[in-house]
Amino acid sequence: MGGFFGAVGKKNVMMEVFFGTDYHSHLGTRSAGLACYDASSGFRRKIHGISNAPFRTKFEGITMEMSGTAGIGCINDTNPQPLVVHSQLGTYTLCFTGVIKNTDALIRRYVEQEGGQLLVMSDGRVNTTGLVAALINRHASFEEGIRKAQDMIDGTALILILTDRGTLIVARDKEGRLPVHIGKKEEGCCVTFEKFAYEKLGYDDAYELGPGEIVEVDSEGYRILKPQNERMRTCAFLWTYYGFPTSEYENVNVELMRLRNGEIMAQHDIDTGTLPDVDYVAGVPDSGTPHAIGYANRSHIPFARPFIKYTPTWPRSFMPPNQQERNQIAKMKQIPVRDLIEGKNLLFVDDSIVRGTQLRETVDFLYENGAREVHIRSACPPIMYACRFLNFSRETSDMELISRRLITELEGESGMAHLEEYSDGTTARGRSLREAICSELHIASVEFQTLEGLREAVGIDPDWMCNYCWNGRD
Ligand code: SF4
Repeated sequence: MGGFFGAVGKKNVMMEVFFGTDYHSHLGTRSAGLACYDASSGFRRKIHGISNAPFRTKFEGITMEMSGTAGIGCINDTNPQPLVVHSQLGTYTLCFTGVIKNTDALIRRYVEQEGGQLLVMSDGRVNTTGLVAALINRHASFEEGIRKAQDMIDGTALILILTDRGTLIVARDKEGRLPVHIGKKEEGCCVTFEKFAYEKLGYDDAYELGPGEIVEVDSEGYRILKPQNERMRTCAFLWTYYGFPTSEYENVNVELMRLRNGEIMAQHDIDTGTLPDVDYVAGVPDSGTPHAIGYANRSHIPFARPFIKYTPTWPRSFMPPNQQERNQIAKMKQIPVRDLIEGKNLLFVDDSIVRGTQLRETVDFLYENGAREVHIRSACPPIMYACRFLNFSRETSDMELISRRLITELEGESGMAHLEEYSDGTTARGRSLREAICSELHIASVEFQTLEGLREAVGIDPDWMCNYCWNGRD
């Protein structure tokens, strides 16, 4: 995954770009970079790896080194950026957030058919940001180049460009899976993935880009270069899992959505007589916590935190891409409050159940610390399809998903024809999947939010939300 921030003003904006980019640190763990432009000194750019130290530590003092009336910054999990590009469109710097699924085909076409050249990184892979730049450069304008690049890319591409006119050009991905906001204040404008980043810097809401929309921003305001597409499929996990709690997407606040979501799940358990007899409701931190507070509020079961995450040395919510390392770190972070666990029946709400490996370790940890019963609720429906639009760290193959794996164990490959039934806890297949999950994770009960419940909690037009993870419909 990744995120970005850019600002353009009448005076030096680097301090704002530094803080604005830092507020995207929850979205990536590998690499970060800043670039600035000033009419007198041109472009400056700096990139650092952030896998072993946070953005702020790596870029401390940067405002003494870099200054400009326009700047961009990004955090990401894929390749070093922003890139500085010299082309027929002029010199510019570019950040790319998202994923390109047809990279090989695009590279072949560009290199073999058109005789182009691309930068290769130290691991031998082509830098995808460089590929995006190459696709844009072939055209007469940034607008045309971005539009054509978006048409050719199978995947999700948020593009942020800092031009040698000192303006920013930003494009939202063609189906609006990820957000782009514009903020404005007296001294200038900014663009951002996370809106709270500009709120903290004194900007007011100016505009939220629609799917596929391309906008140019200067210190006075913004102008639309290409209008939005009709079709929108915003990623539902922005709300349930990886969006920052204070953020808003499509005017829906993340924290409030999670509280509503938990309330709907509790109401479902009350209505179906499946509310378990537990001492406490708790959330698997961090994103499970507000779902759990909502569940506790509606069920009137006390909310508690039976374990606390040790964050001073592990401050970030995203983990290394290696699953084993992720599990080990997750384990080291969990510090129990024994009096809230020993001899207690506990209901934990998690944002989702993907592979189930980390959740099983959490459950084992609770039993090791004396829990009597552990019940699990998932804040979204059973995940039946691996995401093919984004590359956030939990991306995985279909068969690694706990639901698919257990369905295959229950009835072999033929079970894949009944995924909808397995999703539904009221059917015989749905019940057998839940029993299999209970026995795999050693838990007393498990239930999932329904797709209808999730849609109700988000509250936007259901057709605007991507549901592919759950029903495979694009
Ligand atoms: S498939 Fe799932 S993770 Fe991917 S964009 Fe859609 S909702 Fe988000």
